[in-house]
Amino acid sequence: MGKIRKLGGFWPRLRSLAVVSVILLLVAGVIFGGSMLRQAFSGGDPLAAMGEALAKGSIRPEVVVDPGHGGIDGGAIGVDGSIEKNVNLALSLSLRDVLAVFGYDVVMTRDTDISLGSEGGSIRQQKREDLETRMAIMDEDLSRPVIMVHQNTFSQPAYSGAQMFYGTVHSDSRNLAESVRKSVVTLLQPDNTRELKSAPSDVWVLNHTSAPVVMVECGFLSNPQECALLNSEEYQCQMAFAVAYGLTGWSGTENGKEG
Ligand SMILES: [Zn+2]
Repeated sequence: MGKIRKLGGFWPRLRSLAVVSVILLLVAGVIFGGSMLRQAFSGGDPLAAMGEALAKGSIRPEVVVDPGHGGIDGGAIGVDGSIEKNVNLALSLSLRDVLAVFGYDVVMTRDTDISLGSEGGSIRQQKREDLETRMAIMDEDLSRPVIMVHQNTFSQPAYSGAQMFYGTVHSDSRNLAESVRKSVVTLLQPDNTRELKSAPSDVWVLNHTSAPVVMVECGFLSNPQECALLNSEEYQCQMAFAVAYGLTGWSGTENGKEG
């Protein structure tokens, strides 16, 4: 499912959205690589000046980015031996950079290869504490949308394509996830027919955080072609841009809880 393609068809679609030239510059930044964007914020790059200009005189909305796993918890293993926690982190750092240029203040649950549980105790206790710490960060301010970044695997290598799952507590989670899904399909994976789904029962944070939250399963590490893409900086930047663009299309309105 969900044939992956390169950025070739990306430009006409973006033009059709009549996005301002600033956005086109940002896309150029994404294509040239996330490292350029990261450099842009530490040096005298014009992109950095643009980011500052965007920030001036406006309220910067906050967003939480949560790279799944980390430290003792590697998550899934790819067909090429790559570890999910590393793919999640690299993609999340690109997402952070793109969101910052879009004008967001980005709160990362982690920005290095760490577990958020304290050391000592059993692995199970550490993992539990890690999840509780992530959720505490998410629940600090319920006006902030949360983007959880993960990778999928399946026993059959043919499966590919991104899929979005929404949190079950905050009533805005579903439309947040739908906005991100639509953006990723439109910009990156036009043949992806994967349905938007509610949180799987075994994803604890997605079922318990009170914040509006989407879990982005960016692709399948069990598919050789997609695994290679997910490990490439270029594709990570493209996925980051598509996810960030989806967030810009979302406007949380209800700020309440279901049931
Ligand atoms: Zn995961």
